[in-house]
Amino acid sequence: MDNQKTGALIRVLRMEKGYTQQQLAEQLNVSAKTISKWETAAGYPDISLITQLAQILDTTSEELLLGNMPNDRQNGGNMKRIKFYQCELCGNVLTSTGNATISCCGHKLLPLKARIMDEAHTIHIEELDDDFFITFTHDMTKEHHICFAAWVSYDRVMLVRMYPEQNAELHMNLPRRGDFYVCCSKDGLFHMKL
Ligand SMILES: [Zn+2]
Ligand SMILES: [Zn+2]
Repeated sequence: MDNQKTGALIRVLRMEKGYTQQQLAEQLNVSAKTISKWETAAGYPDISLITQLAQILDTTSEELLLGNMPNDRQNGGNMKRIKFYQCELCGNVLTSTGNATISCCGHKLLPLKARIMDEAHTIHIEELDDDFFITFTHDMTKEHHICFAAWVSYDRVMLVRMYPEQNAELHMNLPRRGDFYVCCSKDGLFHMKL
């Protein structure tokens, strides 16, 4: 059992059900703090609770222990399947985790294809007390700049728009494991696993 994966799954499924930690806790006769511990991998559910928890969350004990998203949810629910779209006309950035038809300014947009980060589009991450400080060694001119950066984990995404003439740096706060994307105005989308 992988506490991290199981915890992340419990959180995703609980939110899909629309339960607060307190509401889920009551159904299991545990405290909200206990649920919080499971979700942050600081603890894990007692084996005697797994079956009941799985039933409440509409999954199986096996999936819960493995921390795998049930198959029928994978397309829509998992943020790691995120696709990015950018409108060339207005610069709008859109995302989708399923099969969606995205359009902007009257045009259908195709998902950006991510390449592995190269030297010019890489990032440097510094861990601070309560967030991460991320810097780029990339131009930020009007003709050639980073237009957005995104940090994607299992259940969330943080997307930051960047504009010409600003400093090539930003602050983000997400779980350390995930995927990092950088989009360049000239060279397209780049990706790195964290
Ligand atoms: Zn547009
Ligand atoms: Zn570039």
